[in-house]
Amino acid sequence: MPRANKQQKCSVCQGAKVLPNPNAPSGYAQCPICGGTGIADPNVDPKPRFYNFTPGGAQGTTFALAANAVNIQEQFTVGDYDFWAIYILATSNGVPLSNAAAGLFSVTIIDQSTRNWSDNPILSVLTAGYGERPFPLPAPFKVPGQGIQKAVFNELSGSTNTIQFALFGYEMLPVTAPVPNPGV
Ligand SMILES: [Zn+2]
Repeated sequence: MPRANKQQKCSVCQGAKVLPNPNAPSGYAQCPICGGTGIADPNVDPKPRFYNFTPGGAQGTTFALAANAVNIQEQFTVGDYDFWAIYILATSNGVPLSNAAAGLFSVTIIDQSTRNWSDNPILSVLTAGYGERPFPLPAPFKVPGQGIQKAVFNELSGSTNTIQFALFGYEMLPVTAPVPNPGV
């Protein structure tokens, strides 16, 4: 395999072909952006990006589910460029889902083709980690530019449940010519 030169190195793994992953036994996993080649697509400039699900995709950090609420759809719309999600993260009542103060919920993630990620709602503790130990998608999940990503939630704790449910990944911005320094 040809060695990546400076211009071709994947900007996410810096050509190392792997990224740190606390869930992997080795502590590392194949870089999902370059597919473990270490070589960048010369036409894209991946930049970190979080998207979180909210009612109607409105601005907001969290959404509140009423006690025992069912079939509550939340969504986000990505920007002009493809978004490649690699981690799923969530909190309930401001704490990780494994915390005793978290309320149980279930979720069905629905992708662009209206294909569900599951045939039944999946319990929250199986679907998402938190910042220190996110749920990794070994291969990135692509939401096309301007696409809407949806998920449907059910409250299971019997109390109001304030949730943040987010995907972290990379926004595949196009490589553009350097912007001239305005000299301000
Ligand atoms: Zn890479």
